Amino acid sequence: MRAKRPTLLLLSLALALAGSGRPLLADTRPAPPAERVRTDVARLAGEEWRGRRAGTPGADAAADWIASELGRIGLLPAGDAGTWFQSFSFIDGVDLGPGNRLSVAGRSFAAGRDFRPLAFSSAGAAAGEAVFAGYGIVARDLGYDDYEGLDVADRVVLLLRYGPGGDDPRSKWAAFMPLRLKVATARDRGAQAVLVVTGPLTPGAPDELVRLRADASLADSGLPAFTVTRAVAGALFAGSGTTLEARQRRIDESAKPAPLPLPGPRLDAVADLTPRRSATRNVVGLRPASEGGSGEAVVVGAHYDHLGTGASGSLDPAPDGKVHPGADDNASGVAGLLELARRFAARGEPLRRSVYFVAFGAEELGTLGSSHFVKSPPLPIERVAAMFNLDMIGRLREDTLDVHGVGTSPAWKPLLEEANRAAGLVLRPHEGGYGPSDHSPFYAAGRPVFFVFTGNHSDYHRPSDTADKVDASGILKVVGLLEPLVAGVANAPAPIAFTRVAAEMEPGASGGRGFRVWVGGIPDYGREGAGVAFTGVSPGSPAERAGLRRGDVLVRFGPRGIRNIYDYTYALAGHEPGDRVTVVVERDGREVGLELVLAARPSARR
Ligand SMILES: [Zn+2]
Repeated sequence: MRAKRPTLLLLSLALALAGSGRPLLADTRPAPPAERVRTDVARLAGEEWRGRRAGTPGADAAADWIASELGRIGLLPAGDAGTWFQSFSFIDGVDLGPGNRLSVAGRSFAAGRDFRPLAFSSAGAAAGEAVFAGYGIVARDLGYDDYEGLDVADRVVLLLRYGPGGDDPRSKWAAFMPLRLKVATARDRGAQAVLVVTGPLTPGAPDELVRLRADASLADSGLPAFTVTRAVAGALFAGSGTTLEARQRRIDESAKPAPLPLPGPRLDAVADLTPRRSATRNVVGLRPASEGGSGEAVVVGAHYDHLGTGASGSLDPAPDGKVHPGADDNASGVAGLLELARRFAARGEPLRRSVYFVAFGAEELGTLGSSHFVKSPPLPIERVAAMFNLDMIGRLREDTLDVHGVGTSPAWKPLLEEANRAAGLVLRPHEGGYGPSDHSPFYAAGRPVFFVFTGNHSDYHRPSDTADKVDASGILKVVGLLEPLVAGVANAPAPIAFTRVAAEMEPGASGGRGFRVWVGGIPDYGREGAGVAFTGVSPGSPAERAGLRRGDVLVRFGPRGIRNIYDYTYALAGHEPGDRVTVVVERDGREVGLELVLAARPSARR
């Protein structure tokens, strides 16, 4: 929980005490709407808040500002314990402890110089003999297996980074180079620890340690894993009659594996690292229903966080230290949210359902804020009549708007037609309710969703997504479409019905080359424990036919253990449509085996 500004606390208190169910404060600024929207976008995307990465002071300041705006507009605070905020924590990286050690045959190496745990290493100790398993690649399609004839059970596996010939991303080995995949492959063969070294013959790759940078998954790899220099590898090769360089040359020249047990020198290592937790907040404002309302609510949401100074998620080739303003993504959506909140606060007509206006945190880290909201909603989630998501609405071109989720309720199409009569936009409808943004967790929880998006562009996730490129009048046109839609759902005589869209692709499941198969289980990206939890299952999908359920935690996929989302993605990448796979899920504390028949991926919808 973070300290709140006293002025804000007083304002919240005043509003809470005065809360008669009717907005009290009117926004009296004289600025015309387009000017106001432009100012809001510029403010959020300004240098001062440093790209609003969740867990940074910039994101906190942006959340405070949004809360003060919602208060000024006349909404009521509807976060934790009468505040504007819902706080939640997340794993934001790892910290190295003082206990990292590594020695070979009694010779100690220096942590940080000669070795370091990888960011996704488990904490723990390893001791024993090593084996050299080449590049650590098992590529059945290519007839290549670095583990052929090699027993690695309970051994420490020494691996080369990259693939034969180097780190060319266009090479046929590229799909097998990720370190997470290499470590999981060794783990599935019973290795007790993994060491990774950059080969002396790898072109343009100096003898450096891999940087300690956490990736998007919150779960570790299940065994200690280290990056080491050639000095450490050399010590393990002592007495083998050959060298790391000679082995690498043999593999590179023949394109054939050259595994080698390295008996003799004993390795002792300890990985001491702890996950670093950070906290961030959703901002929640309420426009209450009129007297005698239905007890239900509509949620309108837009994430306010972005990529900060580019540590992860950036598409810039050299992003470090550059502010990523995120003006379209998603200062534009927050500006639209505030504008909608102003209109609903000023609305004279009664409302049957309350409207929650929510600025979500940590969307860029895996829709963490919206997932938190769905898990800890201010009212039971079944009473959320629908969720509207505004994410990237600042680049309206030729009045064309993508609208997603139109298949998630039979009510959407008639409502949309009606609403667009006045708005006059060219709508591009998409049925599906899943997508890489904050509506997804609501859809997975069985709520109708509606997501607006003005389309992708070359500034996406780059430092060039700046406020001057955002079209304020376009945002107002989108708001003009949403206002009657939100009001229509809020005032509908009965809650609108929910429908699941058949044969929908799971979100974010794009594991690179060779990713051809479809399961239809929707992974929970915010999960911190081992395994992959499913927040939903698509109708008609292989997952549904196999009997997979919402809440199941996948722990085994064929021969592979599944510790995290990476393991799952890599497991899928090795399969073809039509393959039968036995999977194991944890359900109500028991392990359940299921038989999956994989299907071809339905074509992408956007
Ligand atoms: Zn984004």
